[in-house]
Amino acid sequence: MGSYIELLAAKSNRFTGQDGGMVTEILASAMEMGLIDRAVVVGRDENWKPVILQATSVEELKEAAGTKYSFVSVMPELRKAIKSGNVAIVGTPCMVSGARNLQSNLLKYRKNLKLVVGLFCMENFYYDQLAEALKSKGVDDLTKVEKMDIKKGKFIVKIGEEEISFGVKELDDIVPSGCKVCQDFVAVESDVSVGSVGSPDGFSSVIVRTEVAKKIVDYIKEKGYVEFSEANVEVIKKLINYKKKIHPYG
Ligand code: SF4
Repeated sequence: MGSYIELLAAKSNRFTGQDGGMVTEILASAMEMGLIDRAVVVGRDENWKPVILQATSVEELKEAAGTKYSFVSVMPELRKAIKSGNVAIVGTPCMVSGARNLQSNLLKYRKNLKLVVGLFCMENFYYDQLAEALKSKGVDDLTKVEKMDIKKGKFIVKIGEEEISFGVKELDDIVPSGCKVCQDFVAVESDVSVGSVGSPDGFSSVIVRTEVAKKIVDYIKEKGYVEFSEANVEVIKKLINYKKKIHPYG
C-alpha cells in the first residue's frame, strides 16, 4: 500500500470518468485552488490511440478522462511542462516513478511538479498489439468503442448497447516485458493514488498519501464536490499481493 494518510471511496458530482471521475475531480480542484496551472495527462484519438497532452483548463481535463490501456511516452512532455509552470501528472505507477526520478534530476524546476496522481495498474499494452488483439475478438472498428475496462479478470469493451468481454489472461502474450516484473499496483510514490479496486461500482478508491493531496481532498470535501462511500483496504491488498505473485522478479 505504501504510506498513506487516508483511504476513501468517492465519486465526483461534477465529472464522469472511468469510475468515480475522481482523477478529473482532483486535478480540476487543484486548478481551482491555484496549485497547478497545467496537468500532463493521456488523452486519445478517435481510434483509442493514446495521446499525451498538457491540459490547461477543466474542459481539456474532461476530454482526457477515462482509461486507455495503452502506453504513450510521457517523460518528454513532462520535462517541457515542468519548465513551463506548476504541473500535475497522472500516470501508471511506472510513470509516477519516472516523474519522481525526473524531479530529482531537474533541481532548478523540481518544485514545479506540484502533484503526482498515480493510477492503479496491473499491466498495460502497446497500442498496435492491443488493437490487433481486440480485432481478433470482434472489435473491428475502434472508433465505435465507448469504454474499455478491466474488471474481475475480464477485459470489457463497450460499443453502444453491446459488450464484448474476454479473460484478460488471453492477452498474456502481449504483456510487455517491463510489466511482467512490475510489482507496484498502487503507485506508492504518488501524492494520491486512484483506482476502482476496493470501492463500490461507480466509485473510485482514493489513497491520500501526502499533505498536498490531503489539502486538495479537504478542499473537495468542503466544497461538497463528491459523494463518499467506504473503501475496502483488504480488497486492494489482495490485488497488491496478486500482482506480486504473477510478476515475480527474475
Ligand atoms: Fe507500468 Fe507496471 Fe503498470 Fe506495466 S504494470 S504499465 S510497468 S506500472
